[in-house]
Amino acid sequence: MELNHYINGNWYTSVNGQERNITNPANGKIIAHTVDGTTDDVKTAIRVARSAFDQGDWAELCSTERSKLLIEVAIRIEKHLDTIAELEMLDNGKPLHEAKIDVQDAADCFRYYASIIRTATGQTYNTAPALETVVVREPVGVCGLIVPWNFPLLMSVWKIAAALAAGNTIVLKPSEITPITAVKLFEIFDDIGLPDGVVNLVMGDGKIVGNELAVSHDIDMISFTGGTDTGRHIMKAATGNLKKVSLELGGKSPNIIFADTDIDMAVDYALYGIYYGAGQICSAASRILVEDSIYGAFVERFVIRANNITVGAGDNPNTEMGPLVSEEHMQKVLAYIQTGKEEGARIACGGNRLTNMELENGYFVEPTAFIDVKQHMRIVQEEIFGPVVTIQKFTNESEAIEFANNTKYGLAGSVFTKDYNKAWRVIKKIKAGITWINTYHENYYEAPWGGYKESGIGRSLSESGLDEFSELKQININLQPDMIDWFRE
Ligand code: NAD
Repeated sequence: MELNHYINGNWYTSVNGQERNITNPANGKIIAHTVDGTTDDVKTAIRVARSAFDQGDWAELCSTERSKLLIEVAIRIEKHLDTIAELEMLDNGKPLHEAKIDVQDAADCFRYYASIIRTATGQTYNTAPALETVVVREPVGVCGLIVPWNFPLLMSVWKIAAALAAGNTIVLKPSEITPITAVKLFEIFDDIGLPDGVVNLVMGDGKIVGNELAVSHDIDMISFTGGTDTGRHIMKAATGNLKKVSLELGGKSPNIIFADTDIDMAVDYALYGIYYGAGQICSAASRILVEDSIYGAFVERFVIRANNITVGAGDNPNTEMGPLVSEEHMQKVLAYIQTGKEEGARIACGGNRLTNMELENGYFVEPTAFIDVKQHMRIVQEEIFGPVVTIQKFTNESEAIEFANNTKYGLAGSVFTKDYNKAWRVIKKIKAGITWINTYHENYYEAPWGGYKESGIGRSLSESGLDEFSELKQININLQPDMIDWFRE
């Protein structure tokens, strides 16, 4: 499979002719080659996106027409759901059933923004006698979208659907590790015939392609999802023209389990919270905090269930947890496991790479849990982004809250208890943008997604996602124009 840039309605190879191999993380085999973008490639894409925006074919199209085209994208994603899901599985490693959910969610995201753009409202105020103030929504302009590898299609779509609904033109940079489904999405854009230059795709390295988007003075907004350190770099790089910056970053989310909860249910959700997606989820419940009176029982049942998880390739229907996305990422996760041991934490389950039989060339790591952890440890403070969880003991409500908030992150968090007064009290104290009571990972487009503290700036999804990609303009209309006589004639 050969994957090319999509610029101004055409497919292009890179100006320097360089290529990059894309591998299947389940077996290390090469499955595709992509062109590797240069700064010149990005500059071309930005230039055409700028000119498409300025021509206004998209921005000035009425929302009803924009909505129809977004629905058409959703229909075509659904039509090709099986193929796209299979490609996502091969590229990212996730089990096929998870990939199918992602692709359906991607279609739903286009439908959601197609629907809210038709009901998005402005405001009017009768601010003074014979004066009306009207507030209208306008697109920001040319948006640079940079996404990670954990939900390659879905993270792209969260941004693209909202940006296009709001009337912007875009340049997307997918992760250099997982670009395949972005290309499939752009094939759909090509088929339905969006005006040339409205959607552009440039593949390649973050430090080259991503950085150029961040520094370019012709980009009006950068919307980034990825690691906190990269986000920090992008924010600095974006200061040249003070472009709008939206950041969806990392997490180290606490899952607080009180003694009055049903232990088996809490274990069930705790496993789902951390091992879904092999822990490569920004909102993963990577820190389990358990009230001391049930700590032993919880750990015992958690370990039995974690050891039962079937790890394997995404195309095996029995697989419950797939590989890590790349050899480099697997080595990073294994290094964290080593760090945890050196810090004095104890492994309750897992801890190793899996290399048995058909897994030997893939990047598989066992579902891993550390106990005897202390708050200051790196494995408690830093995002590992793999199937590694810490299980920590707390003695009372205030200590649970203190532990929960004591990292630089603030993306997500949850509380498990039968006492809804306590649940509400605790959840209100958790410094995080996405929280759950007696559940985990539930996510609907109606609600805003984003983090406190170093987990991000701004919100995706919901109407807030549309606001992110919009400028608000006030228009003051004098209904009885007359001399103002501020200065004497
Ligand atoms: P990453 O930060 O390494 O890369 C993300 C994207 O940024 C990639 O496309 C990469 O090429 C690009 N990039 C890298 N360096 C760049 C630079 N200097 N300038 C511009 N772009 C650059 O992250 P990753 O490893 O791909 O993804 C994992 C991270 O993403 C985790 O920290 C995870 O928590 C985070 N994430 C957050 C959310 C959220 O909604 N908050 C969702 C998914 C993933």
